[in-house]
Amino acid sequence: MITHDVVVVGGGSVGVLAAALLARRGLDVAVWERRTDEPALSRAIGVHAPSLDVLDEVDVADELVAEAVRVRRGVARSGGRTLGSVSFDRVHRRWPFVAALPQHRTERLLRGRLETLAPGALRRGTALVELEQEPERVLLRGEGPGGPVEAAARFVLAADGARSPVRDALGIDAPLRRYPDRYVMCDVADDSRHGADAVVHLERRGVVESFPLPGGVRRFVVLLGEDAAVDARGGDPDAGLVARLVAERTGVEVDPGTASMTSAFGVQRRLAGRTVAGRVVLIGDAAHEISPIGGQGMNLGWLDAAALAPVVARALRSAGGRRLDPTTFRPYEEARRRSAVRSARQAEINMALGRPVGAVALAARRAGLSAALRLPTRHLLGSVYAMRWV
Ligand SMILES: Cc1cc2nc3c(=O)[nH]c(=O)nc-3n(C[C@H](O)[C@H](O)[C@H](O)COP(=O)(O)OP(=O)(O)OC[C@H]3O[C@@H](n4cnc5c(N)ncnc54)[C@H](O)[C@@H]3O)c2cc1C
Repeated sequence: MITHDVVVVGGGSVGVLAAALLARRGLDVAVWERRTDEPALSRAIGVHAPSLDVLDEVDVADELVAEAVRVRRGVARSGGRTLGSVSFDRVHRRWPFVAALPQHRTERLLRGRLETLAPGALRRGTALVELEQEPERVLLRGEGPGGPVEAAARFVLAADGARSPVRDALGIDAPLRRYPDRYVMCDVADDSRHGADAVVHLERRGVVESFPLPGGVRRFVVLLGEDAAVDARGGDPDAGLVARLVAERTGVEVDPGTASMTSAFGVQRRLAGRTVAGRVVLIGDAAHEISPIGGQGMNLGWLDAAALAPVVARALRSAGGRRLDPTTFRPYEEARRRSAVRSARQAEINMALGRPVGAVALAARRAGLSAALRLPTRHLLGSVYAMRWV
């Protein structure tokens, strides 16, 4: 059995980028991904400037930006009026925008790049079943397309998602916090006349957010409030429900007949108690699941991968990775935990701002936001939203 430098468990957006970053450093990497099909559901859409810097390290940024919509401005509206806007033009010299592209298209670009850097590294249809840590390596056993498979690696990166089987196998606690909020979303033909702006409608019965996507499509995300008589809990909501809520709250008419995707999601937060156990490191949603509101989860995972790649490369340079200094990953782990906690808090603020409120509180919210969006320092809000702090 050959011993890889690194096996990445999970070939989602974070695992594949991590593998590409390691392959680019000349390391021998394999990715085990249990799925064989493409996930159809478009989850993440916003790619922020710090992530574009990381994607640029593996020469994917330009390609992604060419496919994406460049969102240069976020506009806040309420009661049919514009309260103000936040520009992203000062967040980065090269990337003065948020790039909007459905996650499955981003993942396709990443897989293509990994295949160029490390042909055959992504093993689809291969699910990890168990792993065992030895002093000098980790043994992995799984089920592949043709039956049981085995491999060994100096290090394992667990990018196996929010429910992380690896995290469970290591006995790492990840307390779950559920929020009461429930959202529906829908991708439809964009007749909103908002162009390439992201728009947040802060309305009495709950927030409506909308983001432009390539191909003249716009994603609407609606917080379900008391006006959503239909319970979307059981599965994907009807596009008509989303269209009705958007129209009633914002006056924007969308044609549900053009919907290419509808989905409902609840919100939870889960931070792993630790992200390093011997030679195994949790990254991405396996390490921290945060609310999608604010669009940070995938970006946060990519920034884990970017911070970890040089640490792993360094550890492999010392005695080929056979000797492991227990402090190797400590600064990485502490710094990434701080970022995850901050992201989770920011997502909580975003959610709180969008919840249904009474007339008095809504008036106060409008006044506060209008004032904040007139301050000379308002560009700092753009930097916060675009994750310049991570
Ligand atoms: C509605 C919604 C909207 C979102 N919008 C945004 C956004 O705009 N911006 C943003 O940054 N984030 C957003 N997110 C969050 C983002 O989708 C996640 O943070 C991101 O997908 C995490 O990537 P990951 O690779 O860590 O995990 P995943 O994408 O979950 O990938 C994990 C992979 O591991 C594989 N796997 C699991 N177990 C095994 C095993 N035993 N063996 C082998 N493989 C295994 C799975 O099949 C999967 O492919 C959104 C999420 C949702 C739900």
